[in-house]
Amino acid sequence: MRKPIIAGNWKMYKTMGEAKTFVDEVKGKLSASDVDAVICSPALYLAELVQMAKGTPLSIGAQTMHDKEEGAFTGEVSPTMLTDIGVTYVILGHSERRQYFNETDESVNAKVKAAFAHQLTPIVCVGETLEEREAGETVSRVSDQVKKAFQNIEGTDAVNAVIAYEPIWAIGTGKTATADDANEVCKEIRSAIAALYDREIADSIRIQYGGSVKPENIVELLSKEHIDGALVGGASLDPASFLKLVEAGVHE
Ligand code: PGA
Repeated sequence: MRKPIIAGNWKMYKTMGEAKTFVDEVKGKLSASDVDAVICSPALYLAELVQMAKGTPLSIGAQTMHDKEEGAFTGEVSPTMLTDIGVTYVILGHSERRQYFNETDESVNAKVKAAFAHQLTPIVCVGETLEEREAGETVSRVSDQVKKAFQNIEGTDAVNAVIAYEPIWAIGTGKTATADDANEVCKEIRSAIAALYDREIADSIRIQYGGSVKPENIVELLSKEHIDGALVGGASLDPASFLKLVEAGVHE
């Protein structure tokens, strides 16, 4: 049985005050065990939110990181810094990072390695553009991204990763893949993992769907065999909405 994981990706939203109010409101209302609940906040708030969430079922994650432990990389945050303050998850290779900050399959792979070297759980994002989808290239594109992200990663690490399938055309657009389409691609991602490792690892790894997930559509998405959770942007910003998303995971 794969434990559902609901992760909020706040992107570049919220003031520190708003972030703290959110965690205060949410942390007492989560019950441990049935679902993993994660908030990936702007880097600036991580230390404070980790302290606030300590001893509660809420985990705190970063939205990106550098692959090096330290160095002359102005403005960057290292994996060592994240683990030092108690962060446990990190989103890697989000399409916005790939699109606006020049992340490549190679740099994502370096970051995935760094995450495992520092006991961080990576949420590895993959997804196709609208053009790729229309050209019938979804499965080959996404499988290729998975293959490259996990290059030279041991199966004993890979099994602990979370993969987020996020069709780029569905992010922040209000358009969601149908639950069946999303499930089909998640199934193909599982096959790509089986080809890289083995069936057992493929059956254990958790795969989220992301792209305009909301309380209104999450139940159907999570009911599908290969969808083990969601990576949620817009609908994770409001505490009541985030709690509903987590609740849907509890009932899965
Ligand atoms: P969205 O974002 O839920 O606002 O579409 C998802 C994401 O980018 O992770």
